[in-house]
Amino acid sequence: MTFHELSLFFDRIEKTPSRLTMTEILAELFTVTNAQEIDKVLYLLQGSVVPLYKKADFGMAEKLLTKAFISGLQIDKKQFDQVYQKNGDLGTTIEELRGSITVIGESDLSIEEVFEKLYKLTQVTGTGSQDIKASIIIELAQSLDALSCRFIARIPTNTLRLGFSDMTILDAFSWMLTGGKTLRKQIEEVYQVNPDLGLLGKTIKEKGIEGLSKIGPVLFTPIIMMKAERLASVEKIMEKVERGIIEPKYDGFRLQIHHNKHDTKLYSRGLDDVTHMYPDIVAGIEKEVTAKEIILEGEAIGYDIQTGGFLPFQETVQRKRKYNISEKVVEIPLRLFAFDILYLNGQNLIHKPHIERRLLLNSTIKVSGDVAVDTILISPLQKMENSHQIEIEFEDAISKGLEGIMIKRDDGPYQPGARGFNWIKYKRSYSSKIDDTIDCLVMGYDFGKGKRSGFGIGAILVGVYDVKTDKFVTVAKIGTGLTDDEWRLMFKKSQVLKSSAKPALYDCDDLMNPDVWVKPEIVLEIRADELTRSSIHTAGRLLKRTKSGGGFEVDVPGYALRFPRLEAIREDKRPTDATSLTEVEEMYVAQKK
Ligand code: ATP
Repeated sequence: MTFHELSLFFDRIEKTPSRLTMTEILAELFTVTNAQEIDKVLYLLQGSVVPLYKKADFGMAEKLLTKAFISGLQIDKKQFDQVYQKNGDLGTTIEELRGSITVIGESDLSIEEVFEKLYKLTQVTGTGSQDIKASIIIELAQSLDALSCRFIARIPTNTLRLGFSDMTILDAFSWMLTGGKTLRKQIEEVYQVNPDLGLLGKTIKEKGIEGLSKIGPVLFTPIIMMKAERLASVEKIMEKVERGIIEPKYDGFRLQIHHNKHDTKLYSRGLDDVTHMYPDIVAGIEKEVTAKEIILEGEAIGYDIQTGGFLPFQETVQRKRKYNISEKVVEIPLRLFAFDILYLNGQNLIHKPHIERRLLLNSTIKVSGDVAVDTILISPLQKMENSHQIEIEFEDAISKGLEGIMIKRDDGPYQPGARGFNWIKYKRSYSSKIDDTIDCLVMGYDFGKGKRSGFGIGAILVGVYDVKTDKFVTVAKIGTGLTDDEWRLMFKKSQVLKSSAKPALYDCDDLMNPDVWVKPEIVLEIRADELTRSSIHTAGRLLKRTKSGGGFEVDVPGYALRFPRLEAIREDKRPTDATSLTEVEEMYVAQKK
């Protein structure tokens, strides 16, 4: 297939406001794509040349890319600035300018040829690399047609966001095979273990749905992490768990570690490779882990050498940084409490009961057990006995400055990506009526009034994730509780994510439409006093036909956050990691009790 043909699909996807139509277009695209090119098509659809967890670094700022286009197309800089000012977007600017000129030697490059060139952008480094990159862009600008150039301009600048989630792609795989979504669940189970969409697409093309069943955990491909359900009382925990263990809940950050004798990599909740940030953990793993090949998980937390205690989250989080890493290693040393093992020496362990996995974990790490000496420790556990003991363990954890406890069922498998009662979190309850914070996606913002007009942003529309429909539904507009710096940061972050139309994954009442739509990317941790019912928010809202039959009216109102305020920006969460609508419903029920 030519890159131009692919661009026609990109254009159709970009223009459709309907998620269902998007699924159909994607399925059509996958049908006409052959097995050799489908993985490349899938990476390009995501604006990349590698699976998303690998993060393609094109190393091309907008300025360099623009310069290359201007020189390749021999456009006047003034003319460029004029069109750019009118369009406000680099892709359509390049498209318009490319369309107005004829280039001798224009050819139809194949997807593979374009992919190779884009891939090369991520590979060249060092002196002279900027010139090589510019020449690649010049070549593409001269070879490809105007529409293709729109997308070529967006990929290296990380601004190609066609507006679908990975779930839409999984639906489209099913659609291609059956004309419906019947295989989605089966495909999704494999995706949670191996979220390389290119690999999944290629396997389906080559071997059909049966081929997928052979895909299991692969070293250095992060597994989507299992999540815990929250429960607010010991009685409820006892109802859900017959036999289980209690572990401290450390308030740090989660890491999934992949290790063999050649390499060690650390992945965050959002599947980012964060190895370079934590050299002390890498050294600890290389020293203390005895297994040849292993995937394990744990929580990293800052350790206070003076007191022998653990640091609060606000201090631990300072270790998440790109610069001055070695300084911080000394200032805030980390300890990793390993709590699960998913893969060992070629063996997939995710289906094994928790109790067996824990025994295996113990046998793969050589620890002295002294927190002052070891970097890697095994999370201590207690057999769960009765409700009184759960309370004691909980109080004990709190008194040590921890967040609470985790209860894990003995017979529970590791369920990638799922939130279930095999893991339960029991946290300190807060003074507010909601026991926990809610992670919301930024869907848009309003221009500010008064003082905030200076920041360009005055209220942020946020929503939660409805897993069933793969849509984001609104729960609040946040207008207070951010510091001036946070407003500025939110404005800055939103600028590259602006969307001229409502993204297809958003479900929002017209009354709530923000001044500016923001594409799905930023997740905020929000605290609120209470969940209330509201007819203007779409989370959990049901509509019915009006009596006249001409329109719709609210049948069941949605959920809204009362007095929402920002706790943190959750860089480690992907949009679909936002709190789910089901969780909001459960929190609402729990709060009423
Ligand atoms: P969630 O992970 O449920 O989406 P979250 O990121 O806000 O939400 P929490 O509500 O704090 O996290 O609870 C789950 C997290 O607790 C895990 O992702 C992990 O990072 C952390 N954690 C701390 N101690 C443990 C432990 N012993 N076992 C499992 N997870 C633990």
